[in-house]
Amino acid sequence: MYYTKMEEFIQTDLKRLPSVEKVLGERCVSDLVSRYSRGGITRIIRDEIESYREYLLQDTTGSQSSEDILQKIVSAVTGEIESVSSLHQRRVVNASGVVLHTNLGRAVLGEEARSALDYVSAGYIDLEMNMENGRRTERDYRAARLLSLLTGSESALVVNNTAAAVFLAVSTFAGEGAVAVSRGELVEIGGSFRLPEILSAAAGRVIEVGTTNRTNLRDYERAIDDGATLLLKVHTSNYRIVGYTDEVELGRLVGLGREKKIPVMYDQGNGILFPFGEGGPGGEEDVVSLLQSGIDILSFSGDKALGGPQAGILVGSADLMEKLRKNHLSRALRIDKLTLAALERVLLQYWAGRTDGIPAVNMIMESKESIGKRAQKFSSALSKKFPSSAGKITVVDGESSIGGGSFPIDPLPTVLVRIELVRGGAVKLNDLLRRSDPAVLARIKDESLYFDLRTVGRDEEKMIREILVRGIEEISARE
Ligand SMILES: *Cc1c(COP(=O)(O)O)cnc(C)c1O
Repeated sequence: MYYTKMEEFIQTDLKRLPSVEKVLGERCVSDLVSRYSRGGITRIIRDEIESYREYLLQDTTGSQSSEDILQKIVSAVTGEIESVSSLHQRRVVNASGVVLHTNLGRAVLGEEARSALDYVSAGYIDLEMNMENGRRTERDYRAARLLSLLTGSESALVVNNTAAAVFLAVSTFAGEGAVAVSRGELVEIGGSFRLPEILSAAAGRVIEVGTTNRTNLRDYERAIDDGATLLLKVHTSNYRIVGYTDEVELGRLVGLGREKKIPVMYDQGNGILFPFGEGGPGGEEDVVSLLQSGIDILSFSGDKALGGPQAGILVGSADLMEKLRKNHLSRALRIDKLTLAALERVLLQYWAGRTDGIPAVNMIMESKESIGKRAQKFSSALSKKFPSSAGKITVVDGESSIGGGSFPIDPLPTVLVRIELVRGGAVKLNDLLRRSDPAVLARIKDESLYFDLRTVGRDEEKMIREILVRGIEEISARE
């Protein structure tokens, strides 16, 4: 008896919910229907009514009138429509000092690459057609030719990203066989690239060789006896095992591959083409030097130290590249025309020795002295507009990071602008910076915010200062 009454109560209670039609008929909603997708708005209304239904079922007070409920739903619906209507990526000023920040889109493109995007997207292009003879061509032949000439490889192939490049190569050469990889190299790299998972999806079998800290040539030999059809070496990128370690030199692995007629691949990742030289980070192997060791296939990203768009680049011997191309998966993993357009321009900049037009390269190469000068100027310009009661601005030594999960020998010396704030001001200001437009991403530690100008464009410095001054005003007004 009691339950029936309760059910009745709930029934009548839910009758206070409006129908979809009723919400659609409200003036402020129907105005939006004339501007945005009717189907999408109907779906938003249905979802909002549904979540209000759930709320009413929990709510025991039951005091709201149907008009109250209608207005609450209408306001939730219009709010959601507004937020959907501005769903696009937003610019962020990156003052974190992480050059290849995966969550912020990694390498920033320079002017030449950006104008190429505009140029090719505004009309039809000769993407897969040779205009000399009207025949069909491979879409990546230009990039592949430039890559071969720049790196000294016989041939090259470009796909969507490096995860795809590894997947394609492993599936081609070990899809029916097995891939041998050292236990010390089964890594996870920034942007959730988990090597073990990619390998097991692509290979018939994964043969883990050696131990976490030590792998020797004999381990690879045993894997070949056990059926390995591809030897894979991976740049452990974002971590390093130190102490009692041993790994097989690439040259010896290549020798073993030659002897047993098995391809040897190296997932290099960061895409440093040549040694950085004077002033650059040391200790990293570059693509050109690695290829000289005779490696059969090498893979790296387009949007890390190369400074281009997201792409997976494979370079190596012509017959192996041809086999990769013939694998039907290469169609599924292919690069799109816009990315390719940007990549071609970046490669042409390398070709012409104009790497000073590549922002990521510039950011990595900028000296501590140069950043220090900018930091000094920045802080004195900011100090003039900054009430001294709000906090203290200083300039301190620090470290930038190349990031992208691609450099273990990471920190680059830098100079940071530090803003110390009182009473939790750093957290408040940081929140305001993140929500401003453009957003500003700083580093926060203890009661201070740190700005690393290495990753900030010169044209962005003034913008940060203005946002900072406004932010400080807003915080003091609140207090
Ligand atoms: C970054 C990286 C990857 C993943 O590259 P994506 O282009 O993000 O797919 C794979 N391997 C290595 C060694 C890397 O450094």
